[in-house]
Amino acid sequence: MSATPIVSILQEQNVGRDVTVRGWVRTFRSRRFIALNDGSTIHNIQCVVDFEKTDESILKKITTGACIEVQGDLVKSQGAGQAVEVIAKNIIVHGESDPEKFPLQPKKHSLEFLREIAHLRPRTQTFGAVFRIRHYLSFAIHEYFHKRGFYNVHTPIITGSDAEGAGEMFRVTTMDAANPPKNEDGSINYREDFFEKEVNLTVSGQLEAELFALSLGKVYTFGPTFRAENSNTSRHLAEFWMIEPEVAFANLSDNMDLAEDFLRSIIRSAIANCADDLAFLSERLQNEEKQLPANERSAMSLMERLQFVADNGFRRVSYTEAIDILKNSKPNKKGKFQYPIENWGADLQSEHERFLVEKHFKCPVILFDYPANIKAFYMRLNEDGKTVRAMDVLFPGIGEIIGGSQREERFDVLRQKMADFNIPEEEMNWYLDTRRFGSCVHSGFGLGFERLVQFVTGMGNIRDVIPFPRTPGNCEF
Ligand code: ATP
Ligand code: MN
Repeated sequence: MSATPIVSILQEQNVGRDVTVRGWVRTFRSRRFIALNDGSTIHNIQCVVDFEKTDESILKKITTGACIEVQGDLVKSQGAGQAVEVIAKNIIVHGESDPEKFPLQPKKHSLEFLREIAHLRPRTQTFGAVFRIRHYLSFAIHEYFHKRGFYNVHTPIITGSDAEGAGEMFRVTTMDAANPPKNEDGSINYREDFFEKEVNLTVSGQLEAELFALSLGKVYTFGPTFRAENSNTSRHLAEFWMIEPEVAFANLSDNMDLAEDFLRSIIRSAIANCADDLAFLSERLQNEEKQLPANERSAMSLMERLQFVADNGFRRVSYTEAIDILKNSKPNKKGKFQYPIENWGADLQSEHERFLVEKHFKCPVILFDYPANIKAFYMRLNEDGKTVRAMDVLFPGIGEIIGGSQREERFDVLRQKMADFNIPEEEMNWYLDTRRFGSCVHSGFGLGFERLVQFVTGMGNIRDVIPFPRTPGNCEF
């Protein structure tokens, strides 16, 4: 007999039936009550054992962490806490687990400790919830674009272009690090390397996605990206997943509409599909925050925060207006910012973004029209000659969640910008070709998938929303 997922048993509550459940033992109380979880839901099913009729050799093996199968009758539960339970008739032990050595005890563990045993943490309620939600978000993103006529493009992971992230990239090579082939002047001879040139892991699929937008109309990428930036923050990973839509004939205002509709739709879909996991995480967060002083606790619970974003529009504010607000803000005047805002042209730090979102506007904000010299070369220059059609979407607790722009579609302007940014034209001729042959207005953005998962799950550290985080000095598993 095949097993039934616990999620279906709990939903259907078809009492009086024979059922088989398989999963991992969370707890075994009084030699009688097994809490079993199979990953299909945050909830366990209670299996009731008659220890007088069960072999001692089996009972001994029902320990936290063991993998077992229970065949029995589904009945209305006698106890409080669950509607139905399984009266066990037969128990098969698939995999024993030494209770002395199993690191996950039925008690609360710190997230830091669980990070060290990332290979076992999906067995906990918290991480089960996080990774189920991560799946639903990924699915909802593909569905969102598919339904609106976008094509998914798989842009390269190994890239021969380093225009975007010079200095922050991971090199890919098959050369012997101890003894690389050298040129006469002593420099490394990459012509002897696998690709006969220097190549890296991609930091973004945008430039390639643009080529496809100017062919297929509306496209998006959803793939891994790599940044060798040494930023040990709760929002940066060395390997993360990015979603990058790119749309022909869309200007910056269309781009903002898309970003806002997209985020709100995905969040609505999480609320609709992940109710149990979100309720669990929301309560978890409230319990965590009880330890904080009252003025540091969130004004809204996780569920309220998600609903708020789903229901309310984002504020659109120009960079220039944001600088005015920041310059005149209390924390700036009182010297509370680590990077004080003095002049127009300053790059905004996470502390400024969070002030605007959390203290000033109290809602998600889209900042647009940034100074050209703090943004990438491909962003469209405005008529003022000093700002570009860039936009960043800022979220509470996260800061920047999306970065995007209208792209410079004019050949001459783009070529000049590349020269200004010291980008060698020969290497980017393929990119310039889109502007040589049938260019048009187009726009796109990049959403860091893990930052979205962070926002939806309320997890404070980005390392806790990706199965195996890669950060400076850490590449376990
Ligand atoms: P930040 O200023 O936060 O480092 P960025 O300006 O470098 O972000 P972009 O190059 O615009 O970011 O990348 C697009 C999106 O990718 C960002 O809005 C963010 O959501 C995400 N992102 C960027 N860097 C990382 C990282 N190291 N780890 C996880 N997500 C990231
Ligand atoms: Mn960055």
